[in-house]
Amino acid sequence: MTCIFCQIVSHQLPADIIYEDDDLAVFKDINPSAPIHLLIVPKKHLDSLNIIDEKNAGIVTKMVMTAKRIAEEQKTRNGYRLLINTGREAGQVVFHLHMHLMGGWGGRKR
Ligand code: 5GP
Ligand code: ZN
Repeated sequence: MTCIFCQIVSHQLPADIIYEDDDLAVFKDINPSAPIHLLIVPKKHLDSLNIIDEKNAGIVTKMVMTAKRIAEEQKTRNGYRLLINTGREAGQVVFHLHMHLMGGWGGRKR
């Protein structure tokens, strides 16, 4: 298994995991670009948003709802961003679907 996020969500590689359940894990980005920068990652390997269709779109809904709840828990409800880079041209470097949750600017303009 060479996918780095598959290895993190199966605990074969260390990461700062702040939440997990049967379907997804949430851990800190190793190279944060915001005071709070988390990655919301399905446990099942899916290359990118491009392979999501009506049959498996439920995981994306769950990712968004988890992000929203965690933003609230991390006290960044007043301002956060969700980002899914899709494809090399958009800057996707890890080809295992993930959503960035960025926030924590604390009332300051980012
Ligand atoms: P992408 O550009 O593919 O949307 O974002 C990949 C993100 O994963 C980057 O923000 C990068 O810092 C993060 N990342 C890459 N490798 C690791 C890792 O081994 N551990 C953690 N925690 N984050 C990683
Ligand atoms: Zn993977």
